[in-house]
Amino acid sequence: MSENLYEVLQAHFPQDLNSPCLLLPGGGVVSYRMLESESARYASLLVSLGVKPGDRVAAQVRKSPSALFLYLGCLRAGGVYLPLNDAYQTRELQYFLGDATPAVFVCRPQVRAAMEKSAPEAGGPHILDLDDQGGGTLADAAAKQPDSFETVPRQGDHLAALLYTSGTTGRSKGAMLSHHNLAANAQTLHRYWGFRPGDTLLHMLPIYHVHGLFVAVHCILLNGGPMFFEPRFDAKRALELLPRSTVFMGVPTYYVRLLAESGFTRETCANMRLFVSGSAPLLDETFELFRTRSGHTILERYGMTEGGMFTSNPYDGERRAGTVGFPLPGLSARVVDDQGRPAAPGEAGHIQVKGENVFRGYWQMPEKTQEEFTDDGFFKTGDLGKWDDDRYLCIVGRSKDLIITGGLNVYPKEIEEIIDSMPGVVESAVIGTPHADFGEAVTAVVVRLENEDGSDLTEARVIQAVKDTLANFKVPKRVHFVHELPRNSMGKVQKNVLRQQYSS
Ligand code: AMP
Repeated sequence: MSENLYEVLQAHFPQDLNSPCLLLPGGGVVSYRMLESESARYASLLVSLGVKPGDRVAAQVRKSPSALFLYLGCLRAGGVYLPLNDAYQTRELQYFLGDATPAVFVCRPQVRAAMEKSAPEAGGPHILDLDDQGGGTLADAAAKQPDSFETVPRQGDHLAALLYTSGTTGRSKGAMLSHHNLAANAQTLHRYWGFRPGDTLLHMLPIYHVHGLFVAVHCILLNGGPMFFEPRFDAKRALELLPRSTVFMGVPTYYVRLLAESGFTRETCANMRLFVSGSAPLLDETFELFRTRSGHTILERYGMTEGGMFTSNPYDGERRAGTVGFPLPGLSARVVDDQGRPAAPGEAGHIQVKGENVFRGYWQMPEKTQEEFTDDGFFKTGDLGKWDDDRYLCIVGRSKDLIITGGLNVYPKEIEEIIDSMPGVVESAVIGTPHADFGEAVTAVVVRLENEDGSDLTEARVIQAVKDTLANFKVPKRVHFVHELPRNSMGKVQKNVLRQQYSS
């Protein structure tokens, strides 16, 4: 039997295919019937361009219904979808295209000429364009295709998607995700988060990333329900749509921005059932403020490109601030020390995971793949974490962000928590910078409140606050004040940027 992810999702489409799937900003609606016929056209087009099962289809486009049809069409044609962040520049694109050798590359019209110029004479991808409104040569060609298509059968372990990791150190790697990886995670989340008839998702995330493309889209398609499909996050627009939605998924920055809106109240959220946060740590303060203002407790979960979601706070039961909850059903997670021995509760160590959704390895990097898996099949996430006394998992940071000063390990999170709790501090990031004696020096980068509350916050006071609570080797040698921390589009603080900036 075919295990094509599209067919897994399709089995849950509503009986009445005229039911809405995408609710668009101008009031337009894409029904499930249209989702079927449009994805059929895109699948036919890809096949007519020579895409064979297993061929990659790369896309660097803005979020639009057509971009979603392209993804689903690619699944139906048996292709491997490769979505790319639209921030990537020509040089970066050349690397991805050279590495993944897609049969088709869909880009925005503005970059088409440059890409055509740099594509190899022969054997390069077909290049088509899709503009931000969903028009262009891709949509024109798809419109001429038949509106039905027999989905190409795929086995569970066949590849469905290739997602490049954000690659903050070294070259970005292509994570290979199979039809079964994606289907298993989608079904687990759909159940675990209690999706039910009548749910409407407010979708404001980008769709080149696991969060927006897989977690959000798959959950709602498995529910056969509608989603507001917005081009981007906009807090004011969210205030208009939340009263008509039941589920929202966002990165922590979205929650901070919602709280900055005076119009964001309990009434705004009266119809809401669930707020999910992830992709970056949610500050305890945001968690608490959100609870007070909205009456809702944000559900924080943890995962990554290499397998979707790994852990989640419970849907029923206590959602605990500063934690990412429990391993999802079907997933084993463990925290181990440098020698691979299980860490005791409260002791920080490396997070490793194993389960149906964990990816199949890095594209054309068998050695790297082998390095990242243990002998007993656990994937080394590169994240550091610890269990609390009730076995909630807490993320302590990335192992690459661990600071080693004078041979001693320092977990940035421990220091950040102390600085963040000082009056006048908005947030902080603690990094290691090169130091002649210690190897690395603990360095804090702090965002102060803009008004007077933050004015007496000095380097000396920050240093003193840490000194009062933690061992001397953890005390920052320097404190820098900034207006904001550099973040990527998924809300993650870019510590590599800070390290570079403060290394001299
Ligand atoms: P990405 O592959 O871009 O989705 O990034 C995955 C990384 O984001 C993980 O390895 C974590 O370091 C981080 N991450 C995801 N969710 C959370 C969370 N809830 N709290 C802290 N870090 C998170």
